[in-house]
Amino acid sequence: NTEEYICYGCGVTIQTEDPKGVGYAPSSSLAKEEIICQRCFRLRHYNEVQDVSLTDQDFLNILNQLAKTDSLIVKIVDIFDFNGSWLPGLHRFVGKNPILLIGNKADLLPKSVKSSKVIQWMKNEAKQLGLRPIDVLLTSAQKGFHIQEVLEKIDHYRDGKDVYVVGCTNVGKSTLINRILHEAAEVENLITTSHFPGTTLDMIKIPLNDGRSLIDTPGIINHHQIAHYVGKKDLKIITPKKEIKSRVFQLNEQQTLFFGGLARLDYEKGGRRSLVCYMGNELDIHRTKLENADALYKNHLGDMLQPPRKDELETFPELIRHDFTIREGKTDIVFSGLGWVTIPEAGAKVAAYVPKGVHVLLRKSLI
Ligand code: GDP
Repeated sequence: NTEEYICYGCGVTIQTEDPKGVGYAPSSSLAKEEIICQRCFRLRHYNEVQDVSLTDQDFLNILNQLAKTDSLIVKIVDIFDFNGSWLPGLHRFVGKNPILLIGNKADLLPKSVKSSKVIQWMKNEAKQLGLRPIDVLLTSAQKGFHIQEVLEKIDHYRDGKDVYVVGCTNVGKSTLINRILHEAAEVENLITTSHFPGTTLDMIKIPLNDGRSLIDTPGIINHHQIAHYVGKKDLKIITPKKEIKSRVFQLNEQQTLFFGGLARLDYEKGGRRSLVCYMGNELDIHRTKLENADALYKNHLGDMLQPPRKDELETFPELIRHDFTIREGKTDIVFSGLGWVTIPEAGAKVAAYVPKGVHVLLRKSLI
């Protein structure tokens, strides 16, 4: 059987041999009208991230293709995991093409936060990270916030050219593209796929009204996101579904917060003060004395402190300590993919712990 099947979600060529490889789908699924690879299936139906073997070389090849185009690049980031979903180095590859930066999942931010403030914050962060986008927008692909504006701005900035949409996995790229498709309903049947030169991947092409296309590139996996270190059930706990409620803790020196068993923050020095936690509402935050923290973690990881669950402890990486002195007020300590803790006042000494391989960093407060 030499017939080729294409995943309706991401456009990859379907294969039925290697369950761990790109484009795997069980052979039974080939009979279906719309064939979807297992990774897309899981993302759509279970909100699960599946790590496929997209190599760094594939990623570089995709980026190199972008530089050769004359296009508008739309870069999507997850506003809840801004730093973790950032594609570092993109600006070095896009050549002279303009980049429109879109922050997705705005529905997760507390409603009291003004969009204009978040957009200004994104502009500053982008600049710090070496990117000068032509514009910055905030949207919720799922809730449909500002979709019309997104469409208008894309059309304005593309200026008669093709559009390439890039973003790492799980930022909501497919959700946004499906939204765009719904807004322009009649194009739905004309979607084509073509091979990304130099990679194992295909791209999805959506025709635009002037003969140009909007091209969906494969999602890149950022390995330092916590999502890759937890089980699928746990991922549901840490991935917020709705507006995040800030949780405020009045801490004394020498107190510790545990975020499930996934991360820890020791508040060492700086007087009594409040810390504001922005994490998924379903994740338990546990406070204890610093002197008891090590023993608590040792004895209760997997039960009181979970995720991870008991049966996942064997593969769960050890926590690595990162020391910080907070020199400026309104600083966020970001636990990549898990959320962040805002320190309102300068002068705190803290230690943040995350699983080995997961990033933790400081930034100017988002909220
Ligand atoms: P992709 O891997 O970038 O294509 O991401 P998907 O479109 O598959 O979305 C990844 C996950 O994020 C799914 O669970 C979506 O339901 C969720 N998601 C997508 N857009 C939004 C959004 O605007 N808000 C929220 N809260 N979740 C979203």
